[in-house]
Amino acid sequence: MATSPVVPDKRPQEELNRAVIFLGPPGAGKGTQAKKLAAKYSVPHLSTGDMLREHVARGTPLGVKAKPIMERGELVSDSLVLKIVAERIERPDCSHGFVFDGFPRTVAQAQYLGELLKQHGYRRPVVIHLLIDTALILRRITGRRTCKMGGEIYNLFERPPKVEGRCDDDGGELWQRPDDREEIVGPRLRAYEKQTEPLVAYYRRLGLLHDVDASKSVEEVEQQIWRTLHQARGKH
Ligand SMILES: [Zn+2]
Repeated sequence: MATSPVVPDKRPQEELNRAVIFLGPPGAGKGTQAKKLAAKYSVPHLSTGDMLREHVARGTPLGVKAKPIMERGELVSDSLVLKIVAERIERPDCSHGFVFDGFPRTVAQAQYLGELLKQHGYRRPVVIHLLIDTALILRRITGRRTCKMGGEIYNLFERPPKVEGRCDDDGGELWQRPDDREEIVGPRLRAYEKQTEPLVAYYRRLGLLHDVDASKSVEEVEQQIWRTLHQARGKH
């Protein structure tokens, strides 16, 4: 009996053909996983920040509007973000699906996106909800220390240096980024939870939300996401 040849194939057998949305707090690995998934299916990874910056760089009418708002460090309005998303998903590279990272942020945006997908003939989106204990995120972020000399990254809880405050490789001083301090991270996490709760409830009610345990390793989380997408294929 002849054994069937194993043909290496970079592209997955099945195409994505839908929108995937990632929800999860800062520190849950949302950006990493969204990029990995987009690469696996060879579809665009769409982050609102990148889309906005692209319009600003090209000097499009939307970019001209967004530029001063972004320069002031303010949040761009819902309607501007929605216009940018609508324009983006009409481009040919989105015809086999796409992965959103950081969008939608509100129920209003989610409703609009639902309509937009329907208009373009897409199936309903799959929403990956990265679940992670807030205490674990705090440890991941507030424990982070960087070597001043070589840039090596340590974590006081998960990967501590052999000598306190010193890099194992070159003895450089370890420092903490100001943004990683508990006083900054704690309020940011609570604000995220408060803002995202209604969105999570909305997608759960629609049966589109899939919980994924994000406390595991990057590879394990990645596998869980693939399985989730595969299972969702038969359901919605
Ligand atoms: Zn070092």
